[in-house]
Amino acid sequence: MDNQIAIGLDIGGTFIKTALVRGDGHVLHKKSIPIKTTSSHIIDQILLSISLLLKEIKVDQELIGIGMGAPGNVNRLKGTIQGAYNLSGLEDQAIVEIIQKKHSYPIFIDNDATNAAKGEFLFGAGKNCQHMVALTIGTGIGGGIILNGQVFHGITDYAGEIGHMTVVPNGRLCSCGNYGCLEAYSSASAMVDQARQALRRRETSQLETLKADEINGEKICYWANEGDSLCESIVQDVGHFIGLAIANIINLLNIPLVVVGGGVSAGGKVLFQSIDESANKHVLPRLRGTFRVEKALLGNDAGVIGSASAVFMEGLEHTHTL
Ligand SMILES: [Zn+2]
Repeated sequence: MDNQIAIGLDIGGTFIKTALVRGDGHVLHKKSIPIKTTSSHIIDQILLSISLLLKEIKVDQELIGIGMGAPGNVNRLKGTIQGAYNLSGLEDQAIVEIIQKKHSYPIFIDNDATNAAKGEFLFGAGKNCQHMVALTIGTGIGGGIILNGQVFHGITDYAGEIGHMTVVPNGRLCSCGNYGCLEAYSSASAMVDQARQALRRRETSQLETLKADEINGEKICYWANEGDSLCESIVQDVGHFIGLAIANIINLLNIPLVVVGGGVSAGGKVLFQSIDESANKHVLPRLRGTFRVEKALLGNDAGVIGSASAVFMEGLEHTHTL
């Protein structure tokens, strides 16, 4: 199996990341291409990046497929993406069909957070664990559910939208139009909003030395672990709501593992302590101690390894029929 490889493509907000990934999760070759503005350019860039990677494949290696992850509305079964950053507009982009005109390899497309769950399951914190949920917490919050060693997609393929679990009835407005979703409380964007509001109230913090547009989730996480009381309280609040969502997940699924990844998982000890406290406080008492919350292991390669994992994991079960 060591000679089997997959191409992993991760379409982000500013970069298309691509890699050749071996069947054991090892990244053999990777590239990062800055995204240009229009959708036709992005499709050209995707095709070009695939062609470049194909040249890197050695004669003794067998390419078994191309996996691709993107945010926004990804239709795994039709092979279309809608509203993913610059690959957007309101129209569906028939991305799989376009790629298949040039390359005949099987192509597996999915929501980027669901792919991240596949990567953690096969090669990361969820290795050897048959049931798990992975949360990816960055600008937004996504999730993926693995049950009995397989991805649970749901009937319309939207399973795992944990970022839109209500954690505060009638709470803050969320990007989805509803109120009180986890994403409105625990995403990096929510953290930045809270920090800016606190600074306008003249609360003291190391963040004061930064310009308003320099404040980001990473800096808030860093200062939280350095003892800055404003940043600490923001990260603790974030952890509180993630823990609450995890308690709901555990009550519902009785699984042993929840993996937390994405930029906000840099929140370190302050974040994970507060997640643990909150999850154990809100979960059904007899489920306390039955689960663990772990930081995702794949780090910066989570996107490309996750996309390649879609090939390794779903290659056999997947067909493009509805
Ligand atoms: Zn929402």
